[in-house]
Amino acid sequence: MLKPLKQWYCDVCGDIIQKPGDGYVLWKRDEKFSDYDFKIVHKKTCEDITKHPSMSLEIFLGEDGVQYLLTFLSIGKIKKNIGQSSKWSVKDMDEFVDFFRRVQTPYYEEARTKFGVAQLLNDLFTENETGPYLEGQLKNIAEKY
Ligand SMILES: [Zn+2]
Repeated sequence: MLKPLKQWYCDVCGDIIQKPGDGYVLWKRDEKFSDYDFKIVHKKTCEDITKHPSMSLEIFLGEDGVQYLLTFLSIGKIKKNIGQSSKWSVKDMDEFVDFFRRVQTPYYEEARTKFGVAQLLNDLFTENETGPYLEGQLKNIAEKY
């Protein structure tokens, strides 16, 4: 099993990114400055930064990482009070939240590989919208299915 929030599956080659420093995040930005297609990949071997905005995976981790992630959603009150506004937006909120959880929620990365398992979907049918993404449930999903 992956070490939660320390290891990830590379979206290009599928192999394990062994530590945060080995990872890179790529995404695309359309002509309206709308960001989408967030990917976690091996730094250097699987990245192609010539075509994408990109940042080190480590930037998105921990409490400061939450602030970087939130910047995609809002420029925030200080910048608004200065008179500045966001030039960008997130194109697909479900996709962005999936990326957000991959870098912030323990066991999500391992559990998300099981999200298509029919038995899992059946077992969680009556759960509320939050329950499946809580740490304990994700650990259970990662281990059980
Ligand atoms: Zn890779």
